[in-house]
Amino acid sequence: MKVKKKRKTGYILLVLAAVLLGLLIQGALGYFRYRQETQDAMLLLEELGGQARTAAESELSLRAAQWAEAEPRLAALPAERRNAPQEGNPELLMLVNPWNPLPEGYEPEIEFVYRLQGRDYWLDTRCVADFKLMMNDCRASGAQPYLCSAHRTWEKQEQLFNEKIRKLVWEEHYDWENAPAVAAQTVAVPGTSEHQLGLAVDIIDWEHPYLDEEQENTRSQIWLMEHCWDYGFILRYPNGTTEFTGIIYEPWHYRYVGQPYAQEIHRMGLTLEEYLTLRQGR
Ligand SMILES: [Zn+2]
Repeated sequence: MKVKKKRKTGYILLVLAAVLLGLLIQGALGYFRYRQETQDAMLLLEELGGQARTAAESELSLRAAQWAEAEPRLAALPAERRNAPQEGNPELLMLVNPWNPLPEGYEPEIEFVYRLQGRDYWLDTRCVADFKLMMNDCRASGAQPYLCSAHRTWEKQEQLFNEKIRKLVWEEHYDWENAPAVAAQTVAVPGTSEHQLGLAVDIIDWEHPYLDEEQENTRSQIWLMEHCWDYGFILRYPNGTTEFTGIIYEPWHYRYVGQPYAQEIHRMGLTLEEYLTLRQGR
């Protein structure tokens, strides 16, 4: 009896040991696979780095085609509005959108604007004075606007873009190959963000500090949408213009083009893309 019991215990121990060993091997294999995948992912991201544009190219050409289709809206504009001459600094009209990236390495001359919660905000020197004036006047109207995004460096935009790719892969299970094109739908591909120009600002209201469509009902936006043109800024992505701009409605993103152009664009009710096409045809 005793021998039998011992043998039984021996078997149980053997099975337990085998199971443990199996688990250990599985764990080790899992760890090595994870490491390999992470390394592969990092290599791919590195490769993508500057070439992220290429990865998202099909998305971009698709939008370019959409834009070509959208163009006829210009044809409907009365002749006297099409031809109104305006003086301004044409350099301020530089177009940056999903299918018009900045020249490689473009860095504007920037000036410090202010510091909030440990972060420094900079803008293209040419728009700082008008920006400050606009913010002051907006505050004087009783609103509480604040700047939450200004100039972005290439590195910053690449970081935002790569973060989005990682999130898509790790949290939403996209392939590394497909993720860049999907990321490009919500985060600007490095080189295609207007914030890299230093002429774009995201302004939100302290009473509703969120980047969502409700932002349009805040006191800040109501004032800004009525007056920004007089300070040389345009609401860059108005409601219902995604087909022209390639970007969703953003009732917080303003772009500096200088006063004469801003007023003309406002009067015509056009997007920057349409306005530039119009100018080319003049
Ligand atoms: Zn913005």
